[in-house]
Formats: sequence, C-alpha cells, structure tokens
Amino acid sequence: MIWNTHLKAQSTRATQLYHNLLKIAGKSWGVPLIHRRTLYKTVTERVLAHGAVAWCLEPTVRIARKLSTIQRPFFLAISGAYRTTSTAALQVILGIPPPHLQLQREARGTALFRLRLPLSTNVSDIDPSKIEEKLQDERGVGAAFCVLTDVNITHRWSTRLSLRNTVFQAEILALLKAVEHAVSLPTQQLTVLVDNQASINSAANPKSHNSIARKIFKLLHSHPHIRVSWIKAHAGYIGNEEADRLAKEAAETENFPETPLELPKSFIKTFLRQKMLATWQMAWDDGDTGRLIHNIIPKVSLHPINWTRNEVLFFTGHGSFPSFLHRFNPDETSFCSSGGIGTPIHYATVCLLTTSYHMAPPSQQHQPIWFRRVANNSTSRRKIHNLLHFLQRETSLFRPDLN
Ligand SMILES: [Zn+2]
Repeated sequence: MIWNTHLKAQSTRATQLYHNLLKIAGKSWGVPLIHRRTLYKTVTERVLAHGAVAWCLEPTVRIARKLSTIQRPFFLAISGAYRTTSTAALQVILGIPPPHLQLQREARGTALFRLRLPLSTNVSDIDPSKIEEKLQDERGVGAAFCVLTDVNITHRWSTRLSLRNTVFQAEILALLKAVEHAVSLPTQQLTVLVDNQASINSAANPKSHNSIARKIFKLLHSHPHIRVSWIKAHAGYIGNEEADRLAKEAAETENFPETPLELPKSFIKTFLRQKMLATWQMAWDDGDTGRLIHNIIPKVSLHPINWTRNEVLFFTGHGSFPSFLHRFNPDETSFCSSGGIGTPIHYATVCLLTTSYHMAPPSQQHQPIWFRRVANNSTSRRKIHNLLHFLQRETSLFRPDLN
C-alpha cells in the first residue's frame, strides 16, 4: 500500500511535467522529437525512478501497468502519434524499454553496487554462471607469483580466472596471494615486486572499492616488514619473467584450475542491460499489439528509430487514413475518393491523387517486405514524409463527400 501511495505521488509529479512538456511540444511544431525524448529520459524517468530499489526489484503486474499508464501520455506527446497507437510499438520506436523493466534494472544495479546485496538473494531470476561465454575461443586470464631467494626460485603459484574477469582482477589477486605467502613466512625483511602500477595504487588505498585491495592494505598495515614495490615489466628480471611465464601457462592450459572471483562491475552492468533487453524482446515478440511495427523493427534497442511524426503515422497506420478512421468510427467511409480502400499503402503506390509521391507497389503477398524496405531506405522515407504532408494539407480531396 505504501508504494502504491508513493507511485500515485510520483504520477502526480510526472503529470505536471507532462503539461510542461506539452507547452513546448505541439503535434507538428516545437522541440524536435529527439530532444523531447531526452527530456523524458533525463527528467520524467528520473522522477519515476525515485527509490526504485525499494519497490521495483520485483515489480508486480500492478506496478508494471501503473508505470506504463504514467509513461504513455509522454510517449504520445514525444512522438506525436495517434492516441490509439500501441504503447509497445511506441517503446520500440523511441528506444525506451517498458518502464518497469528499466526501473528494475536500475534497482538491481543499486542493490548490487551501493547496498552491496549479493546478486543471488536479491535478483532471483539471475544466475551469472549460466550466462553464455561470448568469447569462446579466447584465452582466459592467468595470475601468478614466484618467490626468489638469492638467485633461485623457491616457490611458484599460479591460477586462471574466468573470461568474464578483468586483467586488473588478475593482477590484484596475484598481489594478494604473494602478500599472503609473505605473511606465512618467518618474519624477515621482504619485498614484493609488482609490474602493475594500478594494483599497487589500489592496495595503498584503505578505502578502495576493490575488496581484494582492501585485504592487501590490511595485511601490509599489520606486517610492516613486508614492502611492495614497482618493477619494470619485460626488462629481463628473472622473477618477473618467471611470474609472467607462469601466468601465461595458466591462461593457455586447458582445464587449468580456476579461481572463482566476484564478477567485475562492468560485466554485471552489461549483463543487467542484456537481461532487460531480452525480457523486453520476449514481450515484443509475444505481444499482440503493434504488429505492423514489429514487422519493420523486429529487434528492440535502446536507440530511437529516427522517424519523423509523419513516418510514425504512416508505419503505424494510425493516422488520418480513411481505412483507419473507419476502424474507430463506423460513420466514416474506408474508401478514398479516388476509389479503393484508403490505406497508407494505397496513397504511397496507386492513388490517382498522389502520383508524384508513388513508389513501386508490392506484389500481392509482399506487403510486409515492402514496408521493411521502405522503412530502411532514407529516400523512400523522405517520400513518405512528404506524402503525409500533402495528405494533411489536402484533406478534403481524399475524403469523399458523405452526403
Ligand atoms: Zn486514392
């Protein structure tokens, strides 16, 4: 109930924003579509996302519907589409996911990175170990250190990390293992030589975001006889060369034992985004509205399709076409005054009144392909834009006198 109240309040704030948006966005004038979209993303969506971690980790159907209802008028204002246009289609055209998926993704990010909740408990349907390896053929990452006593190598350690881990994670893990080994030795002056400046800096920072770095800092702090120092890589130092060789060997050897390590933040971010896109894609494929747009834009994406309002009207079919007007108002005729059903494709290919805007008509069964082709060709799209402009200017010409 509390979150319902919260959503209502956010919805009221969003509505105020909406009225402000209308002042700068008429249907065919004002701020261009792409800037209206940016306004939505940077202002409205931020208002809706407030505190999402508390109420949108596992959005209910009710929350999803409520959010979608709030989002819809914005999308109509941004695109200038007809009020009957499907929300699902508008989302795909504008490159903005269903709001509950977008907010859930943000909530998951906040839970993981700020509240440091473990992935498995707060995101029940995510199992990173089941993610397909993208880089099947590439080598893993190796990590290694060795102990040099006088001129002899007296101890060696190496491991392999998952392909999802970063080189930095490998470097800092090797440093931790070296320091831990040094701690286990009888107390004596010891220097750990590292050829990676980033891991040294990280280990010197007690407030590092990296948990391994913080561990190293603690160990070094309580064992002042152990020092860490930088060494130039590939300069022929025998310990360094050996550690390098060990790491390579670990990376290249099939079935070399792996050290499971927390996934890097960048990986999880990408993963959460992919997860959201996959869920959206499934909903788009299985949906029963916006099928004309699904034919043209089968794949969802976070980038807007750069259509003008006229192009949106043409491709959705929701515009001042007799065929459409008839659907929603049976008193209107579905015929063009030139004869024939007044569909978008009628005006673009065969109507006697629009010959200068014509394109080659598709053969009977090939309308879906025709629409895809036209949508993907900028010259054709320009023609469509101008055709719609002409239709809007000359409305009376196309609507047969009902009397
Ligand atoms: Zn006609």
